[in-house]
This record gives sequence, C-alpha cells and structure tokens, in this order.
Amino acid sequence: MLEFARTAGAVAATTSKLEKVRILSDYLRRLDAADLRLAATWMTGRPFSLNDPRTLQLGGRAMWNAVGSLSGKDSDELGRVYLKHSDPGDWAEEVLAGHTEPRPTSLQEVGAAFAEIEAASGAAPKLARLNELLGRLDPAAAKYVVKIMANDLRIGLQEGLVEEAVGAAFELPLATVKRVHMLTGDIGETAVRARAGETEGATIELFKPIRFMLAAAVADATEAMQRVGGRAWTEEKYDGVRCQLHRTGSRVALYSRDLRETTAAFPEVAEAAEQMGHDLLLDGEILAHRDGRVLRFFELQRRLGRKVVSAALLEAVPVVLVAFDLLYLDGEPLLDRPLRERRGLLEGLRLKPPFLLARFETASSAAELDRVFAETRERGNEGLMLKDPESTYTPGRRGLSWLKLKRPLATLDCVVTAVEWGHGKRRGVLSDYTFAVRDEQNDRLVNVGKAYTGLTDGEIATMTGHFLEHTVVDHGRVLLVDPDTVVEVAFDSIQRSARHQSGFALRFPRIVRLRPDRTPKDIDPLAAVEELYDRFFGGESKTALAEVAEPGP
Ligand code: AMP
Repeated sequence: MLEFARTAGAVAATTSKLEKVRILSDYLRRLDAADLRLAATWMTGRPFSLNDPRTLQLGGRAMWNAVGSLSGKDSDELGRVYLKHSDPGDWAEEVLAGHTEPRPTSLQEVGAAFAEIEAASGAAPKLARLNELLGRLDPAAAKYVVKIMANDLRIGLQEGLVEEAVGAAFELPLATVKRVHMLTGDIGETAVRARAGETEGATIELFKPIRFMLAAAVADATEAMQRVGGRAWTEEKYDGVRCQLHRTGSRVALYSRDLRETTAAFPEVAEAAEQMGHDLLLDGEILAHRDGRVLRFFELQRRLGRKVVSAALLEAVPVVLVAFDLLYLDGEPLLDRPLRERRGLLEGLRLKPPFLLARFETASSAAELDRVFAETRERGNEGLMLKDPESTYTPGRRGLSWLKLKRPLATLDCVVTAVEWGHGKRRGVLSDYTFAVRDEQNDRLVNVGKAYTGLTDGEIATMTGHFLEHTVVDHGRVLLVDPDTVVEVAFDSIQRSARHQSGFALRFPRIVRLRPDRTPKDIDPLAAVEELYDRFFGGESKTALAEVAEPGP
C-alpha cells in the first residue's frame, strides 16, 4: 500500500499530465493482475469498480471517529488540523503520525478490508474493522486509504489519464483502452485485460451496462456552429435522469448514469419494454410525464432510488423514456455505426409510449440555432444537444462529437450569508458561498442556494479577508457572515426545496461576479424567485412530448 501511496503522491506532485501518466504507467506495469485490478480502480478514486453495486456505506462521521480515536487527539485539535488541510486524507496522515503500528500491508489486504467493511452490518462492526485497518497502516498509506474511502483522491488524475496510463503501461492505443473500459464499465478489469493482451474480443453484452457518452459544454450558438462546422444536428436536452435499457426476449434491465440498476424504480418502463419484440440496448432520458406534458424534476425525484414503487406513486408520477440512441439491435452491436444510421434504426422500431423519441432538428446558422434554442426553452426544456451525425458512440465527453448548449435561465442579485473553506486548489480560502434573497413580507433574508465562486483568485483572496473580518458565527468549516456582500448568481433552473427557508433552491448556480455597486437593500426579493418559478416551472411545463418524434435526417 505504501508503494501505491508513493505513486499517488508523485502523481500529485507534478502538474504535467504527461508526467502523471508516465509515473502511473511505470507503477501499473510492475503489478500482477490481482494488484493491478485494485490499483487501477483506486487510482480513479473509488474503492469498488464503477459497475460494482457495492458501496462502503461509511459516512464522514465514521471516518472522523475512527481516525480521531486512533490519534488520541481531542475534537478541537482534530478540527484545527482539518481546517488546515480541508482534505480527509491529508488530515488523517497528520493526526495519525506516530499513532499507528505500521505493518507491511498489501493491496490485497486493503481490498479485503474494504470488502469486510462493506459487508459488516451496522455502524459499530464497520467502525471496528475500519479501526483495525487504519491501525496497521503507515500514516502515509492511511492518507490514501482514507481518500479512496472518501471517493476522492485529489491528485489531479481524471479517469482519462488513468486510461492513458493503462495504454502506456501495456503498449496499447488509447482508443482500445477506452473502448474496453466503455464496454466493461470497470477500469480494473480493463487494465487486467490490457495486461493480458485480451482487448480484441470486447463487445456489448446485454445486462452489462456500458459507460455513457457525454457532451462537452459550449458557451453560445456562435461557438457551437464553429465547432460543428456550419451545420448542426440538434436534439432537445431533457432535464430528467439518464437511462440505459437492456432487453432480450426474457429479461429487461434499466441502468443509471453511474451504472446502477434502476429497473425497480421504473416498473412501467420495464414492463412495456417486454413487449418490444427486439433484443436491444437503448440510451435515453427518463422524465416524469403525464398527458403529453413533462412534470417537474422535483416530481421525478420522488421516483428515484426506489426499490418498490407504490401504485399511488405510479399514478401520481408516471414516467416515460425519451430514447435518443440505439446501441445494439437483435444480435448486432451498433457502436461503430454513425449516429445517422443508429437514429434511422431507432426510428424504425416505431416505439410506442412510454417510449418516445428525442425531438430532432437541424440548423445551419447561429441565428437559426438561437431560434431552435429559444423554442426549446419555451417548451420548458433545458437546452440543446448538438451531435455529429457521422460520430460513433464513444464514452465520456472528450470526443466533442456531442456538445451541449445550455444558458442561464436568469441571474439574480443575492447577498452572501455564509461561506465555506475550499479544498484542493482552493485550500486556505473561503471559496464556497451560500446566498439569500429578501423575503419582503417577513423582512428577513432567506437562502436560495450555495455555489463555488466563479470569481478570480485575486477576488477570492480579497473576499476571504473580508469575510474573516465579518464573521458572525464560526462553525469551523462554515462561517456565518454579515450579509453585506452582493453577488450576481446565474442558474439554469429553480426547484422547490425544503432545505432552504425560502422554499426554493436554484439549480446549477454560478456566482458570476461581485456587485460592489449594490447594497443588500438592492438584492432581488423572494417574489422574483417565485415569479420565475411560476413562469418556467409552475404547474407542468409546456413540452408536448407526444409530438416529439420527428422524422430523422
Ligand atoms: P449534463 O448533465 O448537463 O452534463 O448534460 C448531459 C446529460 O443530458 C446526459 O447525461 C443526459 O442525461 C441528458 N440529456 C438530455 N437530453 C439528451 C439528449 N437528447 N441527448 C443526450 N443526452 C441528453
């Protein structure tokens, strides 16, 4: 485990991506298959592979207790050190120094401990096993074990770089590694296959979810048109949850974006899929939907994560699957066929509700694209996806074959009420702001959201000084501050929320800029939030999805 920690430390110490890949590939190349499987997975910052349904079920509190009791330090001291690092792994390394009895510990032993922690039922047995594991580690190794358990290594190593390192370690083209990774949904398995030279036979197997193709963001229609070379294929971008549907004659399964099975949450979709008459793999978006209209995301949330859906909930929140891609049909994987053909085959299925087709249009100028975008927003949808009709299906967002065009719904002037210490690059500065609007009726400020600032490093540093001087209550990680700083906040949507006193939460908020020209008296009232909510999300949105199926290109 120490060797893993040293490698991760070296990866963190360089900002050069090339160097990160070189360090990691040198390490991976030296491992046997069993260690390689674990190390590759852990380097993506997760204890179990992406397609493994297990989770440790271990909250931050358990980690705090385990590390805290081993360290013998009181909670003030633990808190003080935590604040210095704002990272559970770095914190654990410092407070555990001299308080463990390090024994050589292999990756396999750590892997076995993760499995036991997962399998232990109840907080106390989990904690006992965690204590045992941490107690035998060198603090430098404990640091990374804690980071893996917290699902975040923070060493500047995105999944794409781990794929590159696997390719470099075993002399395979990156495209081959990505493809195997897409199909297996498991970077550990991918690395093991790469090591054994068994990458050729990888193909779609129904009921093994594959990784999803994602989109890169573009700022506006002009940039979008430049990227797509003057002619855009657009699809409406629906605000629901991503879904992969696998079907054979005897079985149907649905999977979420993180490759978890979600069949039980959407029984009406699964049952309808049984009648389809084809073996297939569909990619699409699940939406709450009734009488041809999309219901709010808030409604859909009531269906998410359910193991059983009551008849009452089925009735109250019916769902549809808006299909936009077909990746397998009757024995034939379609990943390498151009989107144009995949869409043609998808339309040929003549899907019936609860299956619908994503609305499709083309645009050949930025002005036309703006018009399509405006109409999409009128129908209550989030924005547009722009897809290259000649593109094959590739996972991740790197390829630029899919672009997404969203735009803030509006901006609001809000006042900052609380701030939080950042981590990673933002360590040591207050980088996370909670902000409020004015509830005029009750003459008070009510929070509507929280966001990392989009301010410059200089502004953040200045504001950190300001907030420290204007702290009213110091909760350690979070400081409540004098409400004297006005910020302009952009957001994409508004949701009802019991979390904030306002009753609303802005979705995907970004702090666009400071408004030193405004005082807290000038901020937007709660009534403005209510009005936007009613206008765009009140009742049901206007999308008549029954009409979305458009003829293809
Ligand atoms: P974002 O979550 O903003 O990164 O946008 C990507 C997500 O948009 C995808 O993962 C899908 O869940 C969703 N989406 C909605 N409509 C579409 C569409 N027509 N094509 C692809 N993705 C879509």
